[in-house]
Amino acid sequence: MKRAYVNPDLCIGCGLCVSTVPEVFQLNAEGISEVYAETPEDKWDDVYDAVDSCPVKAISVIDEDLPTEE
Ligand code: SF4
Repeated sequence: MKRAYVNPDLCIGCGLCVSTVPEVFQLNAEGISEVYAETPEDKWDDVYDAVDSCPVKAISVIDEDLPTEE
């Protein structure tokens, strides 16, 4: 199961991903983007657009089936 992820250390809160896929991204109280919902199947193209468009490359798609590195 894959899901979108925003690195809060990189995000500058420009809001582009929130505009692109409001179903998945929102700005938190600190003005930083966070993923608040699973990506609907028909929104993955938009999520990948956001990955490519993020000015600081803060968004990635991770596969939760893979073991995480400690
Ligand atoms: Fe943050 Fe990138 Fe989204 Fe802009 S596009 S709010 S920098 S994650």
